[in-house]
Amino acid sequence: MRILLFGPPGVGKGTQADLLSKKYNFIKFSIGDLLREEVSLNSNLGNRVESYLNRGVLVPNNIIFELVKLFLGKNKEAHILFDGFPRTLDQAKNLEKSLAQLGLSLDVALEMHLAEDEIIKRLLNRRYCPKCNRIYNYATTPPKINGVCDQCRTKLEKRSDDDANTIRKRLQVYEEKTHPLVDYYKSLSVYNQTDAISSPEEVFDKISKIIDGYINKE
Ligand code: AMP
Repeated sequence: MRILLFGPPGVGKGTQADLLSKKYNFIKFSIGDLLREEVSLNSNLGNRVESYLNRGVLVPNNIIFELVKLFLGKNKEAHILFDGFPRTLDQAKNLEKSLAQLGLSLDVALEMHLAEDEIIKRLLNRRYCPKCNRIYNYATTPPKINGVCDQCRTKLEKRSDDDANTIRKRLQVYEEKTHPLVDYYKSLSVYNQTDAISSPEEVFDKISKIIDGYINKE
């Protein structure tokens, strides 16, 4: 099965992607995580993409498509969850083509919704663990000990693109470039949507029901 989550930054895609991967054995493909890791390693790729991440704009497609090709080549037999990819119509078409070349297709494209003021509040309160990537939120899901990861005790960090100006830019990029995916995935009959205002557990429940519905139909 291949599923993708899309929605504005801060809607909770990463949190849901982690929960769903555990429950359904998905291999998660999160380009944002992958790129941040390259930046923190100071790698060649990291140096090429750092300024895009810091400005809140999309990394060029030639870099993204190469990463997708590598990932699909290694994971064609797996159940896959795409988190934050595709983010443009060109990327969506590229994904469809790359899957078709492997005899695969997308099963579910799930949009997560949240009002803008709630998104901004969540992003300003978001922290993550640089070691295990677990995500926390001081407004909704704080760590047990202030500033420290519950899981591995590493000091939590704030993403450099979670500042007010970059958040505004990322929301604008989302509206312009990613939101048109709604009509595209409706036309492929794989579109589903859920509201993301409730707790992570409740959202997880709603998404699980959508996936279970799909699995039962198969
Ligand atoms: P995220 O972790 O999904 O919020 O992504 C953080 C940043 O990574 C974005 O603001 C972009 O700069 C970059 N990025 C993530 N996914 C993509 C993508 N599919 N295409 C281009 N850039 C991306």
